[in-house]
Order: sequence, then C-alpha cells, then structure tokens
Amino acid sequence: QDSHNAPREDLGPRLVKGALFTYVRPENVLSPELLAVSAAAMHDLGLRPGADKEEFLQTMAGNEIIAWDEKTGEGIYPWAQCYGGYQFGQWAGQLGDGRALSLFETTNPQTNKRYEVQLKGAGKTPYSRFADGKAVLRSSIREFIVSEALNALRIPTSRALSLVLTPHSKVQRERIEPGAIVCRFAESWLRIGTFDLLRTRGDRKLLRQLADYVAEHVFGGWEQLPAKLSSDVKPGKDVLEAAPHTQSMRSVPTMSSNSVDSQQFMDLETGVPKLETQGSGKYAENRYARLYREIVRRNARTVALWQAYGFTNGVLNTDNTSIFGLSMDFGPFAFIDVFDPSYTPNHDDHLGRYSYRNQPTIIWWNLVRLGEAFGELIGAGDRVDEEVFATQGVEKVWVDELVERAETLIAAAGEEYKAVFMEEYRRAMTARLGLKKFKESDFNELYSEFLDLMEAHQLDFNQSFRRLGALHVERLTGDEEARRQAASTLFGKNGVLERDDDVARARVAQWLEKWSRRVVEDWGTGPEDARREAMNSVNPKFIPKGWILDEIIERVEKKSERDILDGVMRMALAPFNEEWGWDRETEERFCGDIPAYKAGMQCSCSS
Ligand code: AMP
Ligand code: MG
Ligand code: MG
Repeated sequence: QDSHNAPREDLGPRLVKGALFTYVRPENVLSPELLAVSAAAMHDLGLRPGADKEEFLQTMAGNEIIAWDEKTGEGIYPWAQCYGGYQFGQWAGQLGDGRALSLFETTNPQTNKRYEVQLKGAGKTPYSRFADGKAVLRSSIREFIVSEALNALRIPTSRALSLVLTPHSKVQRERIEPGAIVCRFAESWLRIGTFDLLRTRGDRKLLRQLADYVAEHVFGGWEQLPAKLSSDVKPGKDVLEAAPHTQSMRSVPTMSSNSVDSQQFMDLETGVPKLETQGSGKYAENRYARLYREIVRRNARTVALWQAYGFTNGVLNTDNTSIFGLSMDFGPFAFIDVFDPSYTPNHDDHLGRYSYRNQPTIIWWNLVRLGEAFGELIGAGDRVDEEVFATQGVEKVWVDELVERAETLIAAAGEEYKAVFMEEYRRAMTARLGLKKFKESDFNELYSEFLDLMEAHQLDFNQSFRRLGALHVERLTGDEEARRQAASTLFGKNGVLERDDDVARARVAQWLEKWSRRVVEDWGTGPEDARREAMNSVNPKFIPKGWILDEIIERVEKKSERDILDGVMRMALAPFNEEWGWDRETEERFCGDIPAYKAGMQCSCSS
C-alpha cells in the first residue's frame, strides 16, 4: 500500500517502493456520452438496469465515485496497480496502470464470482510515466467488443461493461482524436509483471505476501489448487516432439523448450544459521509450487483456445500475461483472417516474437519468468513456513539446493504446461471438426492437413470450420463430385486466389474424404442434424475481424451511424447464432469473406 492514510492527489510519475498500488481518482470529464453497455456483462456482474441512468453514466465516466463517501471519507477509494514487465524480452522496469484505475470489487451473489471493476482512459496515475492517461475512441471500441466476443466464445478474458465517449477530450496520437473510457472487469488484474517487479526489487516479503494473497483471495483458498502433479502428465514425454515431423507440422503450434536461467533467481541474502536438509521428498511440492502450477495450467488452457480460434494478442509481454489465465490488454490484437501461422497483428513486431505460431512458446517463456520470481518460495520445499526463511534469508549452501529444486519443479511445470495445452487444443479442435472422440491419427491427418490447406489456398480460418458444419457428410464419403463441390464452398466467394484452381480443389476434396469418413465413424450414418448443431455450437458464425472493427470505428466516429454498435454487439454476444434479427444484409456481410484488400491488416500500438 502506497499510503495508509489519505488518498493521494499528487500524481506525478514516480517509482513506488514497498507497495503495489496507489490511491488515485479519475479526472473529471465534461458531458460524457454512453455509447454502449454489454448486457452480458451486466448479467455476469449481477447488476440490473437501475432507474438512475445519470448516476450510471457519471460512474462509468469517472465523475462519480459510488463506493466512496466524499463527505465522511468512508468507503473504497479508487486505486491504480503497480507492476513491471519484460517487454519484447527485455526488463522494462516499473510500469503500472498508467491509464487504468480500479473503482471497487463486487461479488455476484448468484455465482459468487468476485470482480475488480476498472476504468480505462480515465486520466493520469503515478504510473503514467510520460503518457497522457487517456485512450482514444478507436482502441476503446476494439477493447470493448473483443472482450465480450472472446467471453462469448468461452475463452477466458477480461470483460467490458460500458463504453463512454468523452467528446471534449481531444487526444493526440497520429492525429487528434476523440477520447473514450471503457469500464472493464476481471476476477483479477494481477499479471506476471506484478511478480516480476517484486523479484527485481528483491522485495521477498511482499512477494510472499502477494503469493499468499493470490492463493487465498484470487483462487479462493489453498485447498482449491491442484493437489499434486496431475496424473495426465507423463513427465519426460514431450507431446509435441512425439508427433511426426511431417511437412504439415509447420502449421501446428509449436513450443520450444525453455531452460531456466538460474542466474535470474531472486538475489537471496546469506548469513543465517544453516538449516537441516531433509532427506525425504527433496523435490516435494509445497503449496507455492501448487500455486505456480495452477497459474501455469490456466494459461496453458487459454493459449490453447487462442490457437484453436485463431486469436492473436500481438503484445504478449509479461505485464500483459494474467495470473488468472485471462486474455488481457487488447492493443493491436486480431483474429486471423486467412490462415498464416507467422501472422502477427503488431506492426512493430518485426521479428514475429508475438506471432500466432509463437504464442504457446511465449506464454511459457513468460511463465518461466514467473517461476524465477517464485524460485525461493517453490524451492524452499517443506521449510517454507520457517520464520527465519521469511525474514532473514538462507545460507549459501542451501541456496544452491533451493535453486536446483526450483529448476526441477519449473521443468516439471513445463511438461504439465505442454500436456494441458495439448489436451485443451485437442479438445477444442476435435469439437471444431465435428468429431466425438480424438484419435491419435487425427492430429496429422485432419488438423495439420486442414491448417495446411487453409494456409496454402487462403481459406478463412474461422469460416472454414463453420462451412464444414453445413456439409452433407454422408454424401461426401462416397461421391467424388460431391467432394469437389463441397471444396468450392470452402473457398468462399471472394478474396481467394485459387478458387478456380483444380489442383487446389482436388487437394481439399481429398481431405474432405478423410474427414467425412472420420465423422461417419463417430456419428454413424443417418440424419446429420445433431452433428451439425454440435459443430455450430463451437464454430462461430461471427468473429470480430479487424476489417469489421475498422468499419465500426469509422461509422461510430460519424455520429449518425452509432447504432451500428448495438447491432454488432448482438452478434458478438451470440457468435454461434445463424441470424440476429438486426440487419440481415449487414449481418451476412460481417459473416462473409474478407474484402481482399483488407487481408492481414496490422495495427500500430498508438492506442
Ligand atoms: P501496454 O503496451 O498496453 O501493455 O502498456 C504498457 C504500459 O504503458 C502500461 O503501464 C500502460 O499503463 C502504459 N500506457 C500505455 N498507454 C498509456 C497512456 N496513454 N497513458 C498512460 N500510460 C499508458
Ligand atoms: Mg499492458
Ligand atoms: Mg495496452
């Protein structure tokens, strides 16, 4: 805590030591306008639309602090979090919420889920450094829509409640632009960068306190954590390396191994009495190791879903990697259009560090940094509770053992990461391809080959799955002509270079034969409605692609066309629907092929 007393109003940029947040309130804004509210977010927060619309608007704009009583000084005062981070692989020092601040926490009484509610773009904080604390309308629209779209796709993510325009704040970016405020919420806004900061500061006590806090308050208690290394992990078996290295493996997500850099463990103090080494259970997990593994497992599942749905974050620095395993920090993100594993939406990422194919590797790289921050805690084995450990540090002899122990546990967590990733990726892909059970041969014959086809013949990543769902599978198994016709529907209507290419069509037809056989194997012959329905419930018809978001932004900036936000939110909140009862023509256009000239867009980071 930065100050135990009065909330601070002196907001100059500064380093904050011995603390992880600062009290700070939003700046006042003139005549805010409510542009959109997510009905799903209202529901999940346990809120009902109240009578007092003005109070809602002023709260969402940061003008009114509802959890704090200005007269008595009682209640909850807003705060900004402090964290650090590795950006593009380099330690970037202290960062923090430079343009976000939290208003309060709230628990939905029905679900018992607790959320921390934030405003983004509501003004400067002590962590703004040299920036203005504001967000432009264009990036706010993008964050608002994608947060709710990812959630509707059942991909863990931070959420968005409202979008407010601040017409009188002019924000300077590449041009002068209108500003906006997004109200967003998450089960936790803690990042790997929060732990990075404490580790680089050598603040062992606060690091341990934070780990305790995460276990007890974010995950709901130590007993909620995985009890022991789960039995679905066979240590030593590299699931990815086990798969044959065919040509098609190029487009399967890869994860190279990352060794742990023991030099990077926290600097431990020396000079206390030697502690007895315990003979048994040298590498036994203590509760911090279980906490670490919970964070690892959550992130493994989330990145698997990004890969399965073609989502790229674009800036996976450790300060943008969630402790709760949420998708978070939506800057230059994009859903892949035509499949290209080396695609990155980030215009400045020349090396492709954050490209689609690197996401699983990079999240593990980030998790190894977290393991290093946890090094002392997880390496301490059973002695984690020793008072002397917490306050004074340990002797050199023991440090070596501790490092070795921590390295071993991190490596084991790496195996678990791969296994959990593959399990979730397989689960999602099996469902997306309309299969009931996974067969080992599906990995190469169906997944890899399908990804390769999409890449080679410029098929739309998401629409291809949806289009598969509509096919008459039984007919495909025996009829070459039916397969060739079906192949044409996969190519869509425009933007496809090779739709008239017979070789391409024959290749797709060949894959369709294998696929349809597998589907029949799992579902049998007969009516296909159940299979179709199952596929439609996992393959969205609508995905907020970059070109769609661009069009929304353009039209919302033109005041007269703002209604489009309501329409597109209907689609984003129910992406598996066939139609939305809004505007049939726009709906179909937004679910159709990408205009050719818009393919593979990138975004600069000036948001
Ligand atoms: P990001 O690249 O979005 O992860 O941001 C990195 C850091 O820069 C975070 O600490 C942000 O809070 C901060 N930041 C980004 N844009 C602004 C802004 N306009 N004003 C203040 N801080 C910002
Ligand atoms: Mg960030
Ligand atoms: Mg950001």
